[in-house]
Formats: sequence, structure tokens, C-alpha cells
Amino acid sequence: MKTYVATGNPGKLRELKTFFAKSALQIVTPRKRIELDVIESAPTYEGNALIKAHAMAAALRERRVSAAVLADDSGLEVEALAGRPGVHSARYGGPDLDWPTRRAALLEELRGIPPYRRKARFVCALAFLETEREPIVVRGEVDGYILESERGTGGFGYDAVFLYPPLGRSFAALSEKEKNAVSHRHNATEALLAMLHERG
Ligand code: IMP
Repeated sequence: MKTYVATGNPGKLRELKTFFAKSALQIVTPRKRIELDVIESAPTYEGNALIKAHAMAAALRERRVSAAVLADDSGLEVEALAGRPGVHSARYGGPDLDWPTRRAALLEELRGIPPYRRKARFVCALAFLETEREPIVVRGEVDGYILESERGTGGFGYDAVFLYPPLGRSFAALSEKEKNAVSHRHNATEALLAMLHERG
């Protein structure tokens, strides 16, 4: 089934393409980039994933393209910050910051907090829309800790400050294959594939 992904984030798109490579969903990208001008106004990842998915579906309808839509809304929740940045992860610290600066601002906010109080988790909600069927919305999570300084050069977003304890490395220090075997996005994808399989 042809499926368009409602994201402008190349890191997410790359991971989602890998996850669905061997599934019934064929992830396709529009020949001409579709800019979605959405306000992620929902208080939850699930709500925002649905907002993005509906916006993409509307844009495809306008172009008379008939296909399914997948949207990802994700973020990082830090326990010592009462769950921030959460749904505001993409713009945390200011909308115009580059990623090294955004990560540095988060580390600065946590300065002096000892390693055992730096618990965090990544959360990913996926919304899947197929014409004339109920939307499917699922969530995946992965637990870890925020490091005191960056480690690793791979990945994107907050990967370099997120320690994944079972492997003792940051997400940015894992290979793509290693991250994709355990990540929040992987867990959400598994949940979505199970639900698609169930409803047939
Ligand atoms: P949104 O889903 O577009 O609202 O953005 C979520 C933000 O959370 C992204 O811009 C990333 O900064 C961050 N994020 C989500 N998933 C990951 C991940 O797998 N690694 C690193 N950062 C992530």
C-alpha cells in the first residue's frame, strides 16, 4: 500500500523507511515536496501525529493522489524537568536554535544534576490514515538517561545526549541498526504493524 509520510525531518523519514522496508506499506516520497503548514497544538504526541496525518491527507486529496498517510510525533521527556521538553522537543529553547545549541541548552539546564537523577525517555506516536478506515494511533517509548556532555556523532536531534543503558552508549554512538532495534520509533512501528496485521 502506497504510504506518504507527513514529515520534513530527514532523520525520522530515513528510520521509518527502514522499518517499513519489508512490510506491506510502501513508503513513498512526493516528487514535489509537500510543505505542511500545521500548528502542532495538541497537548499529546498522539494528537499532534493525527493533526499532521490529516494535513498530509488533505494535501494529497488536493493533488488527487490516493494513498495512505503515516505521521510521527515524537519527543524527549526528562524526569528532572517534569517531562520537558516533551511535545515541544523540536523547538525547545527557541524555534531558531540549531541542534548543537539546543542540546547544549538542555545540558546547561541540567547542570549539577547527578547521573542517577537524569532519567529520560524518548516517546514516539505514529498515526496511520487510510481512506475510509478508522485511524490507527500507536505509541512507543524507550528509557534512558541524559548524559552530562555529548557523545557520538550519528543520529539526529537529541541522540547525542541520550544514554541507552543496556548498551552503555548514547543513541548517537549506536549504529543505525543498533538504534533501530531498540528505539521508541521502532517500538511504535512494531505496535502499528501488529495492529495492521490484526485488522487485515
Ligand atoms: P516533532 O515530532 O516534529 O514535534 O519533533 C520531535 C523532536 O523530538 C525532533 O525534532 C527531535 O528533536 C526529537 N526526536 C524525536 N525522535 C528522536 C530521535 O529518534 N532521536 C533524537 N531526537 C529525536
